[in-house]
Amino acid sequence: MFRKILIANRGEIAVRILRACRELGIRSVAVFSDVDRKSLHVRLADEAFPIGPAASRESYLSKEKIIEVARRSGCDAIHPGYGFLAENAALPRACTEAGITFIGPSAEAMEALGSKTAGRQLARRSDVPTVPGANEPIENPDDAQALSQNMGYPILLKAVAGGGGKGMRVVTRDSEFAPAWRDASSEALNAFGDARLYLEKYLEKPRHIEIQILADSHGRVVSLGERECSVQRRHQKVIEEAPSLVVTPELRKKMGDAAVRLARAGGYVNAGTVEFLVDAHLNFYFLEVNTRLQVEHPVTEQVTGLDLVKLQIAIAAGHRLPFAWETITPRGHAMEVRLYAEDPDNNFFPSPGKILSRHAPSGPGIRLDEGVYEGWTVPMDYDPLLSKLIAWGNSREETIARLRRALEEYTVTGIKTNAGLFRRILAEPDFLRGEIHTKWLDELLQRPAAVAGFPDGNPKPDRAADAAAIAAALWHLNQPEKSAGLSSSGQNASPSRWKQEGRRQQLDRLP
Ligand code: ADP
Repeated sequence: MFRKILIANRGEIAVRILRACRELGIRSVAVFSDVDRKSLHVRLADEAFPIGPAASRESYLSKEKIIEVARRSGCDAIHPGYGFLAENAALPRACTEAGITFIGPSAEAMEALGSKTAGRQLARRSDVPTVPGANEPIENPDDAQALSQNMGYPILLKAVAGGGGKGMRVVTRDSEFAPAWRDASSEALNAFGDARLYLEKYLEKPRHIEIQILADSHGRVVSLGERECSVQRRHQKVIEEAPSLVVTPELRKKMGDAAVRLARAGGYVNAGTVEFLVDAHLNFYFLEVNTRLQVEHPVTEQVTGLDLVKLQIAIAAGHRLPFAWETITPRGHAMEVRLYAEDPDNNFFPSPGKILSRHAPSGPGIRLDEGVYEGWTVPMDYDPLLSKLIAWGNSREETIARLRRALEEYTVTGIKTNAGLFRRILAEPDFLRGEIHTKWLDELLQRPAAVAGFPDGNPKPDRAADAAAIAAALWHLNQPEKSAGLSSSGQNASPSRWKQEGRRQQLDRLP
């Protein structure tokens, strides 16, 4: 096992990783930019080293500085977290040269699976269905337009290097093509230093469902089941949950097998996520592979009882995965909301600043992964994710009731947050029924807040509905076979059965 790990990241994910290190008895080394000197990850790590100014290019994106600190501090491994250098094959290469273990896949596997077009090619070769579209970057906009005409609009222009919903434009007719191409390629160049685009058929109102996989260096690859991430704002995930209400055991097996096939074909080792879009007929189409730990990994941790970060570390140290996929028996339901320093009254524009006071929720079924504290100033230089609030329970109803209760407890003053958005979503009938798709939230936000008297989208949770949810949870506990485990025959048995049950609960619970 490793002695000392450098965490090449900041914020909540750096804190998450150093906690895993501490539990494993491994020393943790933080790195920080000038504006992160007082950040929580710096305070909690065993050692911390400055790596330059606020601009990520000169600090968190500088592999030279990170390798230098790792060498100087005697680290034997580097964990990249997510974002920054996490999917940049130059980091595992630099680690190999420096004789340091990279906690993640090899540079080759990252390249074979990480680029969207390379991933699509491998998926096709591995018999994994893909969204129709191009499998190569398209150099010339005229060629792309001709292909779009052949395929039929709408199409989606996408950055080859894409991530975080950037460098993506929907085109619904010929006249929109040229400006969309220009905007998508310049956004891609700014965000990724790579302007190359390709295109896919734009699927109308799909679900985003992804499979978490783990692969060790001894040839074992397992699927840990799915996460449903269809609640998105502008192609970015806002709420994630597991299990998905529409995934049947058969579909789970099929999607899991496809993800494992793809990981094997790419020689993948460590934790990764294979993302799919799923249409109304439950056909699934490969979207991309994220060759790293995901923001939403706690949702899988809560239903499987596994610690993905510790497993990542163990895999990188050469250990065998101690289980096969058949032996994983996920239990209950988990849901995560991403709390951001954002101004809901100003189109969710980042709203960094000093946190004057804060109360963190806790209690049964609540987990808070965060990198903030009272008195700390959220810097304006990075993604303003404050906290991930995760709830779990025996059923989806109990999980939602806990999340609503925790959101009611959660207070922060000094900065604006998007907490009100979640209070609104968690009271929406469509959401409660699980009838969501990737455009659902964007459409909801076009409408005034549905709850009368709360035009700011900040409804107080409805206590009658909470009481009904608790009653439902207690009832649930009394049904021996009804725990919502991934393989249970309970509410996940079939989408149509789920729909009926969902409607019934909905009628019971809503005012
Ligand atoms: P990124 O890497 O930028 O996150 P993804 O390819 O993972 O991009 O897609 C992010 C989201 O964009 C998806 O979850 C979905 O909502 C939307 N999306 C991507 N491709 C398509 C498509 N072909 N049709 C419809 N929606 C899509």
